[in-house]
Amino acid sequence: MPLLVQKFGGTSVADANKILAAARRAIQAHQKGQQVVVVVSARGHTTDELIELAKEIHDHPPAREMDMLLSTGEQISVALMAMAIQSLGVPAISFTGAQIGLVTDSFHTKARIRNISTERMIQALNDGKVVIVAGFQGIDQDYNITTLGRGGSDTSAVALAAVLGADACEIYTDVDGVYTTDPRVVPEARKIDRISYDEMLELASLGAGVMHSRSIEFAKKFGVPIHVRSSFSDAVGTWIVAEADAKRLGVMVTGAALAKDEARITVHRVPDRPGVVHSLFQSIAEAHIVVDMIVQNVATDGTAEISFTVDAADLPETLRTVENAARAIGAAGVAHQAEVAKVSVVGLGMRTHTGVAKLMFESLAQAGINIQMITTSEIKISVLVDRPSAALALRTVHKAFDLDREAQGVWPPYSVDTRTVSPNRPMQDAENGTVATLSQGMEELVISGAELDETQACVTLFHVPDQPGYAGQVFRRIADAGVFVDMIVQNVSTAGITHLSFTVPREQAELATRAVSGIGLGEVRVEPEIAKLSVLGVGMRTHTGVATRMFGALGDRGINIVLINTSEVRINVVTDLGQGKVAHDCLREVFALNESS
Ligand code: ADP
Ligand code: ASP
Ligand code: MG
Repeated sequence: MPLLVQKFGGTSVADANKILAAARRAIQAHQKGQQVVVVVSARGHTTDELIELAKEIHDHPPAREMDMLLSTGEQISVALMAMAIQSLGVPAISFTGAQIGLVTDSFHTKARIRNISTERMIQALNDGKVVIVAGFQGIDQDYNITTLGRGGSDTSAVALAAVLGADACEIYTDVDGVYTTDPRVVPEARKIDRISYDEMLELASLGAGVMHSRSIEFAKKFGVPIHVRSSFSDAVGTWIVAEADAKRLGVMVTGAALAKDEARITVHRVPDRPGVVHSLFQSIAEAHIVVDMIVQNVATDGTAEISFTVDAADLPETLRTVENAARAIGAAGVAHQAEVAKVSVVGLGMRTHTGVAKLMFESLAQAGINIQMITTSEIKISVLVDRPSAALALRTVHKAFDLDREAQGVWPPYSVDTRTVSPNRPMQDAENGTVATLSQGMEELVISGAELDETQACVTLFHVPDQPGYAGQVFRRIADAGVFVDMIVQNVSTAGITHLSFTVPREQAELATRAVSGIGLGEVRVEPEIAKLSVLGVGMRTHTGVATRMFGALGDRGINIVLINTSEVRINVVTDLGQGKVAHDCLREVFALNESS
């Protein structure tokens, strides 16, 4: 029997009428002959209000009690939803996370799902009931109530869709789909018809609050199609699906995102020797701080500048940790800026960054916005700007990529019957029709491969003034010369000067150098002998340990890291060409990858 998971967010269950409207949607699907599992969030602003209340009582509320408190919001919603469905004449039953055996680790307020037992849900579904499950919550192995982190009901819903082998997961919210950027900040934003898991994963982790990024990790891992749509209309929303079903020809950028509450830390004059980067980030990972952008320049005078960003709320603790670590490795000092924001563009169509970089940097320059840091991944470019310029920067890039215009290349309506990629269904037990419980660690990190690219060269400009416009000029010339750019890295300036590095195919290195030499930015150096190494996976950023393990393994083998670029799905580093193969073997060993990866 077809099975559908429907998730209703806070605004969609805010009052009795909205709960009844949501109940009618579930009943509609049920009457079409589908089995229906409904996942609900806490009503309206309940979670925010509970957090405020806790803070009035305790300056640092203990995390275990916080989970006990916050989980009540969802418990209220499930009971009311079950009553609503029953009042409309359809049998329904509500469950808490604990009652369906949604078992997590013990990291209170940010727990990860280990496994979910499906027996009780399947029993109720087979009895003809609509099953209502509290989102955002679970229990650890000692029966403590845990929560999955803010916005975590999306993750509960997609995880249930995965273990139950649902045909799709519908996310009902207060917007009618995923937009090209947050419509509250840029009113001209448009709805996206279809987007790939990787693009959505990047957008969600770069600040698009519409979906919890961990829910997309699940969807990708288990091939669950997600339909994000409005609770208040029947319009088709946005399908988040496999790449083969989402690709559009001729479109470079799919969406833009803003993370406005970031803080930047720079460690000055870090000795350029193997293992140093590792000890720095290890101390941060041990403090359970999630590091966002990491940028390391090409070294000069035997030292490198390393900058990274964290959530602004984590700044004080990060500084305490980093100041100690910086002393230990013999760095010259630590600087920071508390009020920065990150603006990113994402799109499968930017396999090379040349055109996208040019347009993004030029448009920001025209708006008078200075770029402090640049980092790229295969499908995104992120820049760090002053927080007061953040909204203008987002609007500027949104317009520059015509994201406010009608999309080209639209598809026929998506349907789970026409998809080209089928989901990885969990094991079905043919005898009695139940679905076997997935093994331990559903949300465990999956590293899918390590890649070595020995075809590129690195170009560095050493005297780029810290003023708007230079990055735009550089990439205009690079684009005009027809050079393909892969990684781009720019760190914050020291004494008003920064350096900008990028990688290009080795045979285009001379062309690139000639193209940018005329700008008058001092010495341009080409390092032809580089190797780029990448570790690929899902959820690389939220699992803070990956970068640390990667840097540690390379450091242990005496391999020096020249450049770093990170994203949600990949971490890239550049090393000397001669060390590429050893580094590749080392990464395969550390992440237990087999020969073909
Ligand atoms: P829910 O309570 O239903 O989970 P959320 O508030 O978590 O709803 O998510 C919906 C909100 O996400 C929208 O109201 C919108 O302001 C915001 N948002 C941010 N980025 C985007 C985007 N790219 N597309 C759509 N909405 C976005
Ligand atoms: N109620 C939780 C929150 O507000 C979970 C969710 O809504 O997804 O973060
Ligand atoms: Mg949400």
